[in-house]
Amino acid sequence: MRIVLGIESSCDETAAALVTDERVILAQRIASQDEAHRPYGGVVPEIAARAHAERLTPLIEATLGDAGMTLDQVDAIAATAGPGLIGGVMVGLVTAKALAMASDKPLIAVNHLEGHALSPRLADAALEYPYLLLLVSGGHCQILLVEGVGSFRRFATTIDDALGEAFDKSAKVLGLGYPGGPALEQLALQGDAKKVPLPRPLKGSAEPHFSFAGLKSAVLRAKQSGEYSDADIAASFQQAAIDCLVDRLRGALAKAGKVNALVVAGGVAANKAIRGALEELAAGHDLPFIAPPLGLCTDNAAMIAWAGMERLERGQSDPLDVAARPRWPLDPEAQAVRGAGVKA
Ligand code: AMP
Ligand code: MG
Repeated sequence: MRIVLGIESSCDETAAALVTDERVILAQRIASQDEAHRPYGGVVPEIAARAHAERLTPLIEATLGDAGMTLDQVDAIAATAGPGLIGGVMVGLVTAKALAMASDKPLIAVNHLEGHALSPRLADAALEYPYLLLLVSGGHCQILLVEGVGSFRRFATTIDDALGEAFDKSAKVLGLGYPGGPALEQLALQGDAKKVPLPRPLKGSAEPHFSFAGLKSAVLRAKQSGEYSDADIAASFQQAAIDCLVDRLRGALAKAGKVNALVVAGGVAANKAIRGALEELAAGHDLPFIAPPLGLCTDNAAMIAWAGMERLERGQSDPLDVAARPRWPLDPEAQAVRGAGVKA
């Protein structure tokens, strides 16, 4: 049995996990920094980096302790090396390098997005490449054809905001606090999605990408008009987002050729209304729909350990001078897209 220690520190979660090649999560710990960032309504990079530096080493020790293991029993150390907030990424990667050097184990530099993209395979041993992935998180909104480890084709990305960002900013407009995505979903349950006329940006357009900035602004105008209840705005926003996702995914499914499943990952994949709509879309295409358990959707280290395991099993590892990367596209061939705040 092989065991990989995974480390995640690319945003506001400090996390460590131990995962086996038999897909067992032996132990995992996640320290969220939500409290530290809440007063600012978003993640402050400097605060995040300092919090990772304070918490990561004891967190790794505790995770090893939970599994009753020492570093000697681990076969490799995998850490997120990007993309993400560079201060935090450096804390995690440098810690992994030190552990790898001290224990003489291989280091595996993992792309955080590959962690998300392969996490469904940690949850489901039957999921084979290739599959079509909707990756929706606080920082990303992408449709990817996952062909194998390190082999991705990006069909779509956002030309402005990520979907999680649109959820969080709309939630803020509705006074739901930070991060507001889950609260917005709850409020939407009490609302009527047909009440507020909101745009479906880029729906039906020939280009494959997403845009959520206009939708977010429309939510603000709806709130300021005083004509609608918060619950109706929440429900209408969520439905508009779902209509955009489904429309863009239809196009991607037509382009992808034969795939084995439609898969969703990333923090926004926790949303049950989105899951329901994707399940229906997959059924209409005779495809299984796969969504990892909620704990594997938001940022975590088990997915980083698993991506490390998939690389280790293919004989891959990285030199100790591997660099941390603030940007690291999964598909280097993908064209940059137009838009004010390109986050490709
Ligand atoms: P991540 O960037 O992968 O850590 O995911 C965090 C993002 O997912 C934040 O923008 C959250 O607001 C969003 N999110 C989490 N749960 C939900 C939910 N149930 N509905 C909508 N967005 C959510
Ligand atoms: Mg993430």
